Amino acid sequence: MKLPCYLVRDLLPLYKDEVCDPQTAADLKEHLAGCESCRAALAALAAEPTARAVEAEKQRADAVALRLLRRRLVVRWIAIALAAAVLTLALLLGYRGGAGGQIRDIPADAIEEVVLREDGSLHAWLEGGLAYTTMSGVRAEVGGREAVFFTVGVSVWDSQVRALENLRNGLLKDRWYGASDLTILQGARDIEEVYFYPISRSEELDTLLRENSQSLSAAPDYASLLWTDDAT
Ligand SMILES: [Zn+2]
Repeated sequence: MKLPCYLVRDLLPLYKDEVCDPQTAADLKEHLAGCESCRAALAALAAEPTARAVEAEKQRADAVALRLLRRRLVVRWIAIALAAAVLTLALLLGYRGGAGGQIRDIPADAIEEVVLREDGSLHAWLEGGLAYTTMSGVRAEVGGREAVFFTVGVSVWDSQVRALENLRNGLLKDRWYGASDLTILQGARDIEEVYFYPISRSEELDTLLRENSQSLSAAPDYASLLWTDDAT
């Protein structure tokens, strides 16, 4: 059967996509074998993306997008689970039903400086704005000199909660309260020595001072001498 070229050209897209009737395809194939211009038209058509190829590409892109979305959801779920785990840890470690929770010691060298101001008040600066939860102090006599023992503690509970809010700042060196200037004592003009002690030894120190009527021959080994009035 001889097909005219205009009809072949109309049918070429179907032929190329292999959706022609087998008999039509056979006739087209026969025509193409003997017609160079229609073969050229088929070659040009083959160079263009087919509707099927376009659809396949679109489905592939959709599949990739779906995978990325799933990955984002997984990442977000992990992040939420991690936050929940930290919070649970905070509850287990720190929260005991009170506002402050469990109090943790800070090292003596976290106290950067102790200064007796001209107005007679005694102050301390904490390293890097170290956030404190509580502090206490007690006056005593050590080796015949007027001394004050003071301590600062941070709450594990507060630290954990703050860690959730700003992990980059770590557990201790953040600026939750902003202030790192602690007033240790007002009216401290007669103070000659300042000791820092770990808050975990508070009861021990209280007992020691009470039993010795607030007068010790030497400071206990867990206390660190941070300031002394050299002029006295
Ligand atoms: Zn032709």
